[in-house]
Amino acid sequence: MTGPFLSLAQIRNRLILTARAVLRDHRAGPDGRCRVCRVPECRVATAARNVIDAAAARRAAEDQATEEEIRAFYSGEQTPRPAGIAPATEIELRPADDRW
Ligand SMILES: [Zn+2]
Repeated sequence: MTGPFLSLAQIRNRLILTARAVLRDHRAGPDGRCRVCRVPECRVATAARNVIDAAAARRAAEDQATEEEIRAFYSGEQTPRPAGIAPATEIELRPADDRW
């Protein structure tokens, strides 16, 4: 169930789960083509991979910050953004292909 009160971590985890499901559906068959789209370079799978990469990169950056820094930052206190945590607007979830 999707609710309006999810934390950023919960949203990220749901994005990852969805992207993994998409990747499973759009994996290449024995002929090297996507089983759904029937093309060799599936753009849906590429987009799903980019979501997973972006989420993993952000997670890695957050792991560099201390628990205290992260808690203070996400609680909305007036605190400097911990090094490694990019503002949400810097997260790139789009695939390299701008047609999406
Ligand atoms: Zn596909």
